[in-house]
Amino acid sequence: MLGLPESSARRRRRGAGNRDRCTGEKAKDNQMPLVDLDRFDFLYANRVKGMKTAATRDLMATLSRPGIISLAGGFPDTRAFGEEAFRDLSSAIARDSAQALQYGPTGGLEGIKDVIAEVMRAEGTPADQDNVFITTGAQQALDLVAKVFLDEGDAILCEGPTYAGALNAFAAYRPRIAHVPMDRAGIIPSAARETLKRAKKQGLHVKFIYTVPNFQNPGGVTLAKERRRELLDLAREFDLVIVEDNPYGMLRFEGEPLPTLAALEIEEHGDVDRVVYLGTFSKIFAPGVRLGWVHAQPGILHKINVGKQGADLCSSNLSQIMITSYFQNGDWKGYVRRLNAIYKERRDAMLAALAEFMPKDVYWTHPEGGLFVWATLPSYLDATAMLPRAIAKNVAYVPGEGFYAGGEHKNNMRLNFSFVESEKIRRGIEVLADVIRERVEL
Ligand code: PMP
Repeated sequence: MLGLPESSARRRRRGAGNRDRCTGEKAKDNQMPLVDLDRFDFLYANRVKGMKTAATRDLMATLSRPGIISLAGGFPDTRAFGEEAFRDLSSAIARDSAQALQYGPTGGLEGIKDVIAEVMRAEGTPADQDNVFITTGAQQALDLVAKVFLDEGDAILCEGPTYAGALNAFAAYRPRIAHVPMDRAGIIPSAARETLKRAKKQGLHVKFIYTVPNFQNPGGVTLAKERRRELLDLAREFDLVIVEDNPYGMLRFEGEPLPTLAALEIEEHGDVDRVVYLGTFSKIFAPGVRLGWVHAQPGILHKINVGKQGADLCSSNLSQIMITSYFQNGDWKGYVRRLNAIYKERRDAMLAALAEFMPKDVYWTHPEGGLFVWATLPSYLDATAMLPRAIAKNVAYVPGEGFYAGGEHKNNMRLNFSFVESEKIRRGIEVLADVIRERVEL
């Protein structure tokens, strides 16, 4: 009986309210009671307090509503792969069925590591398959990196804004997150240096800098080459690791490719050292296979291996064999070129529509690749508050605040152009511009 009366009292005092299943928001008086999400509050670990669901995940249900133009998700256009190509691939895997249906090594099958080294080399990084470790999407890699490096109260530097899914993954380990401002050329190294100096003065232990250098999610901007070198210099000076998350590097449809931080480090240092590179098949093949990877030095990979054993033993053999077969025998580079042609057309449609319809004092980035445009509204506007109105008019986007640990920058929105056809993008931006115009002070 110990503790039970006390905990029920706590629950009563908190007034365990009825909340929406997804958002956790209190149900309004006139709404049907849904579900009591507070019921076991007295049992949850402290780490859960810092964890929140990503706005994009919460929006999923809304996005599948018929008629909605979703500029919200980060979905690649998997329709482009085609049913027939998928059928051929499936029969190729069937030849390896016993292994495909089996458990595999925690770090992944050898065949796929060769494929990954080839993919990384195609992007200009002289990768070594011995330094490759398979994960269940880059998302798991983010979680494992945080698991391996972060104690409660440690600090990390992230771009401001940064990928909301990374904030989610990191939050479970309860770090202090410092956002470093960006401009059109990505994270500003002098600001990163100031933040690192300040953190040191405060006695904080900064463990890593997290960056999405190419066509950043959500900002759409790309880190300039000199800044990549400066970031590496900073990591050496302050003795920390750089987590380079690069899902979009190959989705470039304009301008010259830039070397990855991993490539620069190998060039300067002779080998991989403090750059932990994260890759994924989600954007160059399909997110449904849930496969990504870490390329890092062996000591870090060993710790990540131990972390993954406790998480899911190994990633899907089925997916690994599927990818190996496709990347060894199929025209994956041709497929990426095809995706890029589709995304370029849609990006152009989005930029043109923004220029045509948006009221003045709304600004946006010009991504040279990837999936996202980042729009900035006048500072008095709140994109979160505006979302229900946009959804009522059948357009969805992701409000900017979810891309900051502290929820600031409410006057931003992330707009996705990879999933919806160009005409719908145009229509969606037109409607969105109307919603914004309703609130703009004249
Ligand atoms: N990092 C970034 C920057 C992303 O945008 C995403 C997915 N949107 C991920 C990691 C996770 O990708 P996945 O788990 O599908 O590999």
